[in-house]
Amino acid sequence: MNRALEKLISLHDLDVMISDLANKDISKQEKKLGLSPDTAAKQLQKMRDELASTIDRKHRNLYDQLAGHYGNAVVPVVNQLCSGCFTQLPTAFFASPDRNDQVETCPSCGRFIYWCD
Ligand SMILES: [Zn+2]
Repeated sequence: MNRALEKLISLHDLDVMISDLANKDISKQEKKLGLSPDTAAKQLQKMRDELASTIDRKHRNLYDQLAGHYGNAVVPVVNQLCSGCFTQLPTAFFASPDRNDQVETCPSCGRFIYWCD
């Protein structure tokens, strides 16, 4: 898979983890494991900043826009449907054998998309 795409997916994963930490039930779990939620949050934010700094500015700006607008900026394609907006993607997308080598966006909602199959 394209490194730029992998980074965007990782950025999204970190964002989910950061927002999960703000969730009280998950914070309790972390405490049980002997982790301070504050320390974990700081560490995650640091990792997020480091990762974000290695992402192409154009992609990062779009990611931030999408994340602000939708909450999730990077979504998988399942059964030819964008899992962000449930639009069927044009067949041209599926013709390419190296479709995960490109950073693609959904023509309907604009989210970054990737294929799992
Ligand atoms: Zn979409």
